[in-house]
Amino acid sequence: MRINCPHCGTRPVEEFTFNGDASVQRPASNDPKTMDQWFDYVYLRDNPKGRFDEYVHHSSGCRAWLVVTRDTQTHEVFGVVTARDHAKKRVKA
Ligand SMILES: [Zn+2]
Repeated sequence: MRINCPHCGTRPVEEFTFNGDASVQRPASNDPKTMDQWFDYVYLRDNPKGRFDEYVHHSSGCRAWLVVTRDTQTHEVFGVVTARDHAKKRVKA
């Protein structure tokens, strides 16, 4: 698998570290009544089959945080954006 880093170009997957689901959203409140939401946020993850947004660190390259959209079965990569651009897009939605 090869990943097209927005800063470095297409690089082998061995240069990257995968860091989990990029669709999880931090609860807005610290109120103790939201502890169930915090438990879900910290500990519970889906194991999807198919298209998946995932945080990836270019640990052996530019050290940028990226969000890679890929198929978990075929490993086909559909897109790569910086984590910053992903967060901006999420705020607008
Ligand atoms: Zn890079």
